[in-house]
Amino acid sequence: MKSTEKPVVLDVRHLRTEFGPQDRPLVAVDDVSFQVGQGEILGLVGESGSGKSITLRSILGIIRPRGRVAGEILWNGRDLVPLDEARLRRIRGREIAMIFQEPMSSLNPLLTVGLQIQENLVAHTNLDAKARKARAIELLDLVGIPGARNRLDDFPHEFSGGMRQRVMIAIALASNPKLLLADEPTTALDVTIQDQILRLIQSLSRDLGMAVILVTHDMGVVAETCDRVAVMYGGRLCEVGTTTDVIADARHPYSLGLLRSIPRDVAPRTPLYSIPGAPPALNALPGGCAFSARCPVAGRECPDIRPALEAIGSSRLVACHHLEDAQAHFGPREAAQ
Ligand code: ADP
Ligand code: MG
Repeated sequence: MKSTEKPVVLDVRHLRTEFGPQDRPLVAVDDVSFQVGQGEILGLVGESGSGKSITLRSILGIIRPRGRVAGEILWNGRDLVPLDEARLRRIRGREIAMIFQEPMSSLNPLLTVGLQIQENLVAHTNLDAKARKARAIELLDLVGIPGARNRLDDFPHEFSGGMRQRVMIAIALASNPKLLLADEPTTALDVTIQDQILRLIQSLSRDLGMAVILVTHDMGVVAETCDRVAVMYGGRLCEVGTTTDVIADARHPYSLGLLRSIPRDVAPRTPLYSIPGAPPALNALPGGCAFSARCPVAGRECPDIRPALEAIGSSRLVACHHLEDAQAHFGPREAAQ
């Protein structure tokens, strides 16, 4: 099913990424398929260990230590999976850029931010030195760094956490990427700065027509930022839909559990719902539904029979054997507010 209204730029089909021995593999991403439309922000949400980062890293071919990646990753129709390192490098950082949770780990502490932006411009554009400097200032300005012209010669440690995150976004944008992979880009920041960075990603996506996959473990972040959302658990997708639909009317018990854990909109004295238990280890995943051990409505077949991701209505996909029981268990959304 084509799940976005926009022209599809990224079409991931049956992605599978595994580690360890061939005969007893640890499957971190298992038969994951989704699409991202031009200029669209797709949220990839799930608890820690769900396989979100490995999904993004599989797209760029930057898994260390190396995993085995199978399936298709069609970038504007071209499959990235079989490409060699040299060909991938031409796409990585240029057409597709990635930003990480911890900016200090991807910024070079010994180089000024001006030089780091310009390095990217050297690698990915034909601009001369003067034009590169002007562009670097423009980029810092674009991501909302005050007095951009005077910050080119500053080192990363001279910026606050939020400003460093902006610098990292500016570096990523230097190549005019058509897809930005953002891996929990705001998790380490306080809530006000988080909101500013998310607004920034939103306006860049809108103004530059850049598609974004925003990885987060926070449904609140999805609600505020994303056009569509894919919910991931145990390396598999459990629900995909428009943000409006999923927030208002989640179907999968795992999505419902995540939504009930949003701290906002909770009436005073309402106990916060958090999903009991912890995600399974990769070597202890059941053959059936990955969520079955923690699911409040799991039936006897759930640990053994894997539910397919099936269309419900025109724009929603859900993988669950017990959708009606889930609705009955969690009740209408209003009950939790
Ligand atoms: P998320 O980003 O959703 O928190 P990850 O994608 O980082 O989760 O990891 C998914 C699973 O893959 C985790 O259980 C993690 O321990 C496992 N994993 C990640 N990298 C490797 C590796 N190189 N070898 C084995 N397992 C790995
Ligand atoms: Mg991660």
